[in-house]
Amino acid sequence: MTKFEDLGLRPEILTAIAELGYDAPMPVQEQVIPFMLEQSGDLVALAQTGTGKTAAFGLPLFTLIAPAEQNIQALVLSPTRELCIQIAKDLKNYAHLQKGVKVVPVYGGENIVTQLRQLDTPPQILVATPGRLIDLIERGKVNLANVRYLVLDEADEMLNMGFQEDVERILQETPAERRTLLFSATMPAEIACIAKKYMRHATEISVGVRNAGADNVDHVYYMVQARHRYLALKRIVDMNPDIYGIVFCRTRQETKEVAEKLMADGYNADALHGDLSQPQRDTVMSKFRLRHLQLLVATDVAARGLDVSDLTHVINYNLPDDVEIYTHRSGRTGRAHKSGVSVSIIHSRERHRIREIERMIKKTFRQERVPNGIDICKRQLFHLIGRMETVDVNSVEIEPFMPHVFSKLEYLSKDEIIRRFVSLEFNRFLDYYKNAEDLNLPEQPTRDATRREKPARSERHSSGAKRGQRVRLKLNLGTRQNATTRSILGAINEVTNDKSISIGDIEITHKFTFFDVFADQADKVLDAFAHSGGPLEVTVVETRDRDDKRPFRSDKKQTARSDSRRAKDRSHSRSSERSSRRRDDNSAVVNSEKPWRRKRY
Ligand code: AMP
Repeated sequence: MTKFEDLGLRPEILTAIAELGYDAPMPVQEQVIPFMLEQSGDLVALAQTGTGKTAAFGLPLFTLIAPAEQNIQALVLSPTRELCIQIAKDLKNYAHLQKGVKVVPVYGGENIVTQLRQLDTPPQILVATPGRLIDLIERGKVNLANVRYLVLDEADEMLNMGFQEDVERILQETPAERRTLLFSATMPAEIACIAKKYMRHATEISVGVRNAGADNVDHVYYMVQARHRYLALKRIVDMNPDIYGIVFCRTRQETKEVAEKLMADGYNADALHGDLSQPQRDTVMSKFRLRHLQLLVATDVAARGLDVSDLTHVINYNLPDDVEIYTHRSGRTGRAHKSGVSVSIIHSRERHRIREIERMIKKTFRQERVPNGIDICKRQLFHLIGRMETVDVNSVEIEPFMPHVFSKLEYLSKDEIIRRFVSLEFNRFLDYYKNAEDLNLPEQPTRDATRREKPARSERHSSGAKRGQRVRLKLNLGTRQNATTRSILGAINEVTNDKSISIGDIEITHKFTFFDVFADQADKVLDAFAHSGGPLEVTVVETRDRDDKRPFRSDKKQTARSDSRRAKDRSHSRSSERSSRRRDDNSAVVNSEKPWRRKRY
């Protein structure tokens, strides 16, 4: 096995990384460090987040730069502020024993005056986001004429975020004879183009198979109805009391909703999305890094640059549209030689997408059943016992109270005391999960059996067949966007592309439209809107009882006519009042499993 000592790094750097607990180089480091120290060409490295790429380019830089010269000799470009800060922090950790070396991060969203001051004496290594760097170049505060090493980190993200022009401009500000090192998780054509235009005879290395999931990540999926996603998430979390993970959602709205529900249900969770101000994002990220939060609910964009190496789980609340995003997400667990679990909560029609991801990442997913109440109670009970066994007893502090405690409990047997202490915590789980329903979808019959059992067309469409339960959905379109019953039905038809879906009891308010669908068609609607990629979002607000007899109308044309007339008659204030009442009611009916409190840990 290669050792760091064999790679030609400075002794101060070896001491610093030993302090950080790096025992042996990771594969990308084994390849990149000798390349940088022993060769002279450019490099294109296909490496994902979490592979140890920062140390791969960072450690040799400290051997290559001249600490005595006070000019920018190495420039590291990063797509986001968070990644920029993280890289600078890692580099400073590596260099803290090396005298005279200065690393400075410059990024947008931060007071430029502070950054200008830090540049009064130029650092040897500058870590920057493209926009802020150009600003500083234009102010004459940054001179890139002495740059000998240019690192483009997460180059694909840089392009995704629209920085191509800025990057090209920066490349032109640096000397032609510099060495360029490009790191990217994927290799789209634009990157190949940049490499061709600005790099000389670049050596390509790839760490692991392209798009391959890390070896120590377990890929698991749970299949439930779309409206049970949140309940399934809670059960997965309850089944893993020590979970420390990121729950990835598709939209900011979904991120907010899931995080709010988790917090209301007493979990240690918070949201990270683009609507937060920079200080708010910093606070959430730092709470998560310090493990004051157990679950971070985030969008992909917001979570970029958040470097946390010991996540136990990554949860795909919704599968991403793009396999590469799945790889990015799952690559956030199982880092630095640890194992991790990438969980996906899917519904039945997404099974083929799991197969697609399996093919791309060359890993097999394991389907697991959503745990039932008994499984969870058992797991929580033994977790509690485990905590009790390993708790630190502060004998000195507790001693003065013990005689009183012993005398108070004297009349109870040891057996009874244990039962009562355990029940203090355990009763909550027992109560909560007492009548918990099975969230798993019934086993899928084989194709032959499906064919045999398929009812006649007329039978499938008859509204009597087990269609008692309905689901009330909410669409983010209302009268303020001039929505009418007709336009709403049109939108649903267009997005679902399925005219067999029956829509009932449409109610249009200022901001939203509420409508009913049969429970067995709800997933179809939710799924279609979730995948539509547009601004329209549909969420579940209520599951209605079987004996609620308000009619469903399957003929949309007829419904459109009658409802639009009725909608005209309804005054705006009345409908908003009704909707707000319904929304208040929702808090009681959405997710009928009642909330329970959980202690902060
Ligand atoms: P990166 O891909 O640079 O984001 O690194 C992922 C994580 O791995 C970071 O938390 C690093 O601190 C950690 N790391 C990097 N190199 C090593 C190593 N050789 N041994 C253990 N951990 C490492």
